[in-house]
Amino acid sequence: MDIENLSRDELIEEITKLKEENLKLRMKKSNKKRNRIKTTKKQIVDYWETRVDECELSIDWAEAEERCWRCGYEKRLQRCHIIPDCLGGEDKPSNLVLLCERCHIDAPNVESETFMWDWIKANKTTFYDTFFETKALQEYEFIYGKKYIDELKERDILSPERIKEFMELPVGESCNHFAHPWKNDSTMAGIFRMKLEAYDKIYGKK
Ligand SMILES: [Zn+2]
Repeated sequence: MDIENLSRDELIEEITKLKEENLKLRMKKSNKKRNRIKTTKKQIVDYWETRVDECELSIDWAEAEERCWRCGYEKRLQRCHIIPDCLGGEDKPSNLVLLCERCHIDAPNVESETFMWDWIKANKTTFYDTFFETKALQEYEFIYGKKYIDELKERDILSPERIKEFMELPVGESCNHFAHPWKNDSTMAGIFRMKLEAYDKIYGKK
């Protein structure tokens, strides 16, 4: 086809046709049944434990089949591609890591062999079972430009008794997004905020 000889309308028609074909192709590709991963969790751990230092991670290698490599929580783990399946990433230990469902959803989907590890390492947390609380506190600071601990200090909520009293304050309800059995960072930050609001309502804002 010689596009120089086409009228403006014909050209638009050709472009529309091409776009539709492209869309159909993309839909066909995304509907393609995903291959079942054959590599086992043990093979994935065996491959990586000699290649990545656990000091850089949220987990110890001894617990790598039970705890998520990104958040460190003890969860049912999923095999997650480093280079995604849809971009031609292979089903082999060197292209897989173990993540919980929540971290799998957050994980990068890019054609890079190194970025997944940079992301996992950047998310390193020192203590088990604190990762998402820490993330929610970061979210709080992002929204209000203030550390939550400073909010507590301002209200003199520092002793264990005062913290206990604060934690028991009744606050508004919260719930989870559909299909996600967890409270996301902004919901958690909102719960933290509601606690402060409940406190200020009773004791007055400083
Ligand atoms: Zn996780």
